[in-house]
Amino acid sequence: SIMPATLSAVSNGARKGILFKGGNHLEQLAHVKAIAFDKTGTLTKGQPEVTDVIVRNGMDESEVLQAAGSIEWHSNHPLAKAIVAYTQSKGAEEFQQVHQLKDIPGKGIQATINQVVWKMGNVEFMDRTALDANALLQAETLQAEGKTIVYIQKGEHWAGMIALTDVIRRETIRTIRLLKKQGVYSIMLTGDNKTTAQAIAAESKIDDYIAGCLPENKVKHISTLQSTYDSVAMVGDGINDAPALVTANVGIAIGNGTDVALETADVVLMKNDLSRIPEAIQLSKRMNRIIK
Ligand code: ADP
Ligand code: MG
Repeated sequence: SIMPATLSAVSNGARKGILFKGGNHLEQLAHVKAIAFDKTGTLTKGQPEVTDVIVRNGMDESEVLQAAGSIEWHSNHPLAKAIVAYTQSKGAEEFQQVHQLKDIPGKGIQATINQVVWKMGNVEFMDRTALDANALLQAETLQAEGKTIVYIQKGEHWAGMIALTDVIRRETIRTIRLLKKQGVYSIMLTGDNKTTAQAIAAESKIDDYIAGCLPENKVKHISTLQSTYDSVAMVGDGINDAPALVTANVGIAIGNGTDVALETADVVLMKNDLSRIPEAIQLSKRMNRIIK
């Protein structure tokens, strides 16, 4: 049976917008010593916007943008939605027919248009010889500003790149600071590249980060953290985060995250407010003291 103190703490949490799916999760939070955060949609708002478009010398920008919009139209990725919106705002007319579409989580998307293969995604997703030094240099400069680069390859060579920014949530810095005060270690897990990850990590003042993290590797990193920190929480919003949410001692989902994340999590932040996490830890500690 549920102790009155637990019941009151759970309903107290609910009033603050923290939904606990059981009293045991609330109790467990007090023991958490490390928290892993997904980047996109968790530490950041998850609403990226296009900031820069670069096309290779000799390429036609409108051709690149039209192909980009036509391909990303078929993806649900937040970067894809931002790219589609941007190309439409730039007057990309009707999207083109694409064939042999392949959407590869954590890497990018490819399709054939007029018999030519186009690829869009991160550097690992491009062919090894497709990018030249000039492209990589331009990307590096943008990434150092915390921007995410989507490379575009047409046939054998890069055709252009699109830079996007996704601002961090207004409470992210405060949340990390409060967790530090509570002695909780914080780490970001992201599929994004190292330079971008480092810029976002520096801005949010998070203790550490792991970049280039494929969806299937998030689980592995949670297990590794558990061997050092014992009790580990994971905060995420995406389908990709669901396995890590299950593996963590406490899985926390952002309220407007995907259904799968919401279903899998132990705790849901109904108001999408990260600063409820340190508050919930406080609540949990207080409750455990009353019970003991
Ligand atoms: P995160 O962990 O930041 O949410 P993901 O694991 O979803 O990132 O994706 C990692 C990287 O793969 C992205 O930063 C992007 O470079 C690339 N990527 C994935 N899907 C797409 C797509 N549909 N279009 C372009 N790039 C993509
Ligand atoms: Mg995410």
